[in-house]
Amino acid sequence: DARIEGYDPELAAAIADERRRQEDHVELIASENYASPRVLEAQGSVLTNKYAEGYPGKRYYGGCEYVDVAERLALERVKELFGADYANVQPHSGSQANQAVYFALLQPGDTILGMSLAHGGHLTHGAKVNASGKLFNAVQYGVDDEGLIDYDAVERLATEHRPKMVVAGFSAYSRVVDWARFRAIADKIGAILFVDMAHVAGLVAAGAYPSPLPHAHVVTSTTHKTLRGPRGGIILAKGADADVEKKLQSIVFPGIQGGPLMHVIAAKAVAFKEALEPEFKTYQEQVVTNARAMAKTIVERGYRIVSGGTDNHLMLVDMIGKGITGKDAEAALGKAHITVNKNAVPNDPQKPFVTSGLRIGTPAVTTRGYGEQDCIDLAGWMCDVLDAPADEAVVAAVRDKVTAQCRRFPVYG
Ligand code: PLP
Repeated sequence: DARIEGYDPELAAAIADERRRQEDHVELIASENYASPRVLEAQGSVLTNKYAEGYPGKRYYGGCEYVDVAERLALERVKELFGADYANVQPHSGSQANQAVYFALLQPGDTILGMSLAHGGHLTHGAKVNASGKLFNAVQYGVDDEGLIDYDAVERLATEHRPKMVVAGFSAYSRVVDWARFRAIADKIGAILFVDMAHVAGLVAAGAYPSPLPHAHVVTSTTHKTLRGPRGGIILAKGADADVEKKLQSIVFPGIQGGPLMHVIAAKAVAFKEALEPEFKTYQEQVVTNARAMAKTIVERGYRIVSGGTDNHLMLVDMIGKGITGKDAEAALGKAHITVNKNAVPNDPQKPFVTSGLRIGTPAVTTRGYGEQDCIDLAGWMCDVLDAPADEAVVAAVRDKVTAQCRRFPVYG
């Protein structure tokens, strides 16, 4: 049987179950989204068969004339989208894009200054358990008691430790980052400013969040979060020195990767075309409107949002002192078919696997078509569960409402 369903029923069931879960549960994980049928089509195409080590026009394999077209389209479009004059669309993931930047521009043992995981940074920004924290001397900054990046502290740490690279960007920070301030800090000590805009790339593309491109020496992103493409990474720069571009090119291939995933690069190309459409701007503006509405509702219900609210697609609910951990809240909401992730909050007394916080984001629900009132309703139901996580009747009632709401907004139909 040529189809998975007839040939491998166990795997077919897992895929069908996951499809059903995506339709029937509400997705509030801030780093997730639903790729379009066109993106899925490209990823499931015959381009997966092709080896294309090298870059368009300079490949180490024959037969690359058509995959070259796909990669050139991805490059042209992503440069237009972000106003970049350099792009590499080959990194297999966000982590590999970041690894490429470190290896291209630093030597092992060099000092980097990045945002700590516990305060909203990413693992690849110097966490001890990650290669970025093992191979480099990682100094970490964080947020102040209000939950805002403490730029004065960043500047003090920079002056004290003189990192070769300052890393800005985040996985859990709901405010506008002052990219210009980061650049001024980097310039003061002659450091490279590297911005990882993975979380806000879609907002940036749509003009709904300030672009780091004019400020950073180099920028990376994932393509699957707010940008709504396939899982993958990109590297961008504007006004970079030719030797920096050369180093980035040769570190991605042959430095840390072999053959590029041409089906994923094709999916990136179609996702970038979608992101250039006027509807994408409307979508991203709605993402922010929806996030603000959820944050307001959650605060009205007596929960603290780190920094008090949001300027982007996400927020962190701080439940310190509320008698419920992030782990238990995630589980209770899961029973109500609301998918979120537990997340450490600043000064969290709990371990990273338990935490006292939840990270909530609106990119996925907004793709489904949720408007402001739908998000207000949803945030209220969430709080019903957080108020009484062990009350099975409450959880069941919320699950019924969530299911009815999901049915009004099919993902793939
Ligand atoms: N950078 C940031 C800021 C992220 O939030 C993430 C993923 O969560 C990554 C990089 C890593 O991306 P990937 O999971 O594709 O390696």
